[in-house]
Amino acid sequence: MTCSQMGGPAACNTILTGNTPEEIVQHGMKHIEQAHPDMAENIKAMSKEETEKWMEEFKNKWDATPDI
Ligand SMILES: [Zn+2]
Repeated sequence: MTCSQMGGPAACNTILTGNTPEEIVQHGMKHIEQAHPDMAENIKAMSKEETEKWMEEFKNKWDATPDI
């Protein structure tokens, strides 16, 4: 899965790898903190409920993307 598929900037094609959605999110957060600090700030500013909703949507995307 690429950074842009995960919700990052459309121009970012950095590949985020992991065996589970949780692993990809962990790797993705490290990449986002380094490459997209503005986005990292937005994510950290989200409430617990918003984060859980985002994670739910991310898992749906993961399920819908067969070749990652
Ligand atoms: Zn990126």
